[in-house]
Amino acid sequence: MKSSELFETAKTLIPGGVSSPVRAIKPYPFYTKRAEGSKIYTEDGDSLIDCCMGYGPLLLGHAHPFVKSAIKDQLDNGWLFGTPAEAEIKLAKIVTGDHPSMDMCRFVSSGSEATMAAIRLARGYSGKKDIIKVEGGFHGAHDGVLIQAGSGATTMGVPDSAGVIPEIVSHTAQVPYNDIESLENLLAKNNNVAAFIIEPVMGNIGPILPEDGYLKEVRKITEENDVLLICDEVICGYRLGIGGAQVKYDIKPDITTLGKIVGGGLPIGVFGGRREIMEMVAPAGPVYQAGTFSGNPLTLASGIAMLNYIHDNSRLYERLDGYTKIIHESLPEKYRDSFVRLGSIFKLFFREKPPKNYVQAKESNTEKYADFWKKMLQSGVFLPPSQFETNFVSAAHTEEDIEYISGAYNKCL
Ligand code: PMP
Repeated sequence: MKSSELFETAKTLIPGGVSSPVRAIKPYPFYTKRAEGSKIYTEDGDSLIDCCMGYGPLLLGHAHPFVKSAIKDQLDNGWLFGTPAEAEIKLAKIVTGDHPSMDMCRFVSSGSEATMAAIRLARGYSGKKDIIKVEGGFHGAHDGVLIQAGSGATTMGVPDSAGVIPEIVSHTAQVPYNDIESLENLLAKNNNVAAFIIEPVMGNIGPILPEDGYLKEVRKITEENDVLLICDEVICGYRLGIGGAQVKYDIKPDITTLGKIVGGGLPIGVFGGRREIMEMVAPAGPVYQAGTFSGNPLTLASGIAMLNYIHDNSRLYERLDGYTKIIHESLPEKYRDSFVRLGSIFKLFFREKPPKNYVQAKESNTEKYADFWKKMLQSGVFLPPSQFETNFVSAAHTEEDIEYISGAYNKCL
């Protein structure tokens, strides 16, 4: 069946026809039959160069042989135990070893679960009620953070969700990104703040990069005010390099959340931090958290393979940085200033300059983006369908792919 027909049927069975809102491309999304390396093969017989990469997890590309073989080996030994398994210890050793801020970590099944648990942990540890998030920051689809959330929520025009009761979000305050003064002012007025949750490099209205010194100031001010710093590195983790944004920008959060790449493409979330904080988590401590699929053997096998591969091939980060540099430098001159890139992440904003925060990002011309996006798709390049989602290249992209993408940018712009 073709994508348009599949979507008609899907709409009768699944709300909006999709399992996650950003996928509801108009007039209908293409359906993927198979994916390998840098390519997606659709039900309509098209092959596309993928710059969405599962929204970030696929740093090595689709169906990477090394990760695939680890998953296959695990399949022969069962895929859900409901008991501890040695692989948890192996993955925990890699993850804590790569993040100097983490003495301990706990595995969950998604980034949303990780941030939900991290916020509960911060409240349980500090005994305080409020949290601060960044305007436009997306930390998953749970109640306390669904206020002016980026990416899908921003594109769909529903930053606040129906069904989220005001009492819950009344404990969530917001500050603009790259704005230290607002954070200082807010903290001066409120001494009931448990945590400040921030994506160190914003990936969900962006990417938007931190200005020089911003993250170090954030760390200093949160420390001075006895507020826990939660770095949500669900996108940044292993994307900006081993150790993510916190190593790159040399900051030490109290709690870190990870997801995406850590699972090698299978569902995962991780939260971790200092021992005295993490030992508050059940059953070691009083902050409850649990999950049937947490630390499941298939994801652990895939994650361990992914992270081992990255450690053995860490030069891949330089290659990917080179790729986004080529795309940037080959753009028509008038677009170069509004292109943002950091390592393997990149995005062209339809505004004059890269945004510094949510308000500026929202000024982008989303109609122009939609037009451009469609042309790119027709040219055989799949970009994330929203102006507010980050583009990714992977280690599976070849120099020819990058040349093709650059050519498509030029043609479609
Ligand atoms: N935090 C950030 C920074 C994210 O980008 C996302 C997902 N895009 C999440 C949390 C939620 O992760 P998941 O979709 O795995 O629940």
